[in-house]
Amino acid sequence: MSEQITDYSGTDNQILSPAERVGYAVVGLGELTEAELYPAFHLSARSKLTALVTGDREKALVQARQLGLKDEDVYDYDHFEELQHRADVQAVFIVLPNSLHREYTERAAKIGKHVLCEKPLSVSVQDAEAMLSACKAADVLLMTAYRIQYTPHHQAARELMQSGELGRVKLMTAVDVQTEPNEGQWRLKRKLAGGGSLLDVGLYCLNTARFLTGEEPYEVFAYTHSTPGDERFEEVEESVSFTLRFPSGIISSNFCSYGASRHRSVRVLADKANLLLDPAFDYTNLRLKKDTETQVTELLIKEVDQFALELDHFSACVSSGEQPYTPGEEGLQDQRIMEAIYTSAREGRPVHLERFEGRDVFRGRAPAQAERERS
Ligand code: NAD
Repeated sequence: MSEQITDYSGTDNQILSPAERVGYAVVGLGELTEAELYPAFHLSARSKLTALVTGDREKALVQARQLGLKDEDVYDYDHFEELQHRADVQAVFIVLPNSLHREYTERAAKIGKHVLCEKPLSVSVQDAEAMLSACKAADVLLMTAYRIQYTPHHQAARELMQSGELGRVKLMTAVDVQTEPNEGQWRLKRKLAGGGSLLDVGLYCLNTARFLTGEEPYEVFAYTHSTPGDERFEEVEESVSFTLRFPSGIISSNFCSYGASRHRSVRVLADKANLLLDPAFDYTNLRLKKDTETQVTELLIKEVDQFALELDHFSACVSSGEQPYTPGEEGLQDQRIMEAIYTSAREGRPVHLERFEGRDVFRGRAPAQAERERS
């Protein structure tokens, strides 16, 4: 196996002083916030954490002190609107269970704050549309936090696919499976999660297929399955298998589950060379290989904190007023496709989607391009 070293990190980001950075309030201080977002703020070049919004004040006060924030920077959910008076909070980052994304996006828009919202954008097309309307009416930006689209390994895979270097792409397969323990987890409650493995991990397969091809699927076919008698899956589905057809002829075959030992990979099969991203959706240690009939090449790509890249892109947009690369529209389109996936599985038939021609129909300007044009 040979190695090819490429730097896709795009870290020519100028490091701004604290006063110049975009300030954020993080809403929801759970696992993602603690383990990934606090370190990402520390590593970011354009973003700073200025307030915490929580349902557990004691826990938040401890975290605030560790982060160098003051007690006055901690708000509870009922006092969210008081952020309006904080000039150093220009944006909120919503990191709550899925069904709460709409409420907090609407509340943030009402007080004039830009919104970075975790995936999935919402639990339905209807909620996603309401979120887009609220942000539009308030003239604030809405970005779906799709870290994968800012990740150097995925950007490299997309470039290899779209440059023609692999030849004609025939098939993409993506798998994202894990075991979900039943500990009163909101992810297993329909009211909070909106669905099962599809909305949580299957969304990585779906969004990556759309991102790597740049195209929009026009047809889906899907099956769902839950192990009979497994009480974890009384309210939400365990597994989903779904196939997407893209206008260029690419077929994307995907599987997600809450009931299988962890595996996250993407395979691209084309007529000149193939790609393998494995692991594909982890926060670190991603690996990308290109193989032909005679050679396997590993692309050694510099890793950069995925959440810091995503945050700094949004901060650049807040400063310039530009539409983000993964705006609300990008999350809404996935919501439409996920509803079609559930319909297909329920009715046992292919479901047709609105046909969109061209590439990157719902995306703003790519971060590297926007960066070059700004400087
Ligand atoms: P979590 O359970 O660890 O944290 C959720 C937070 O919401 C907790 O602080 C909890 O107290 C709070 N909360 C407020 N109201 C609640 C309610 N009614 N029920 C339960 N909790 C409530 O979850 P998480 O893993 O941090 O996920 C939060 C969001 O982030 C989800 O939308 C998830 O899809 C998303 N997420 C994204 C990634 C990514 O890689 N982009 C990774 C993990 C999670």
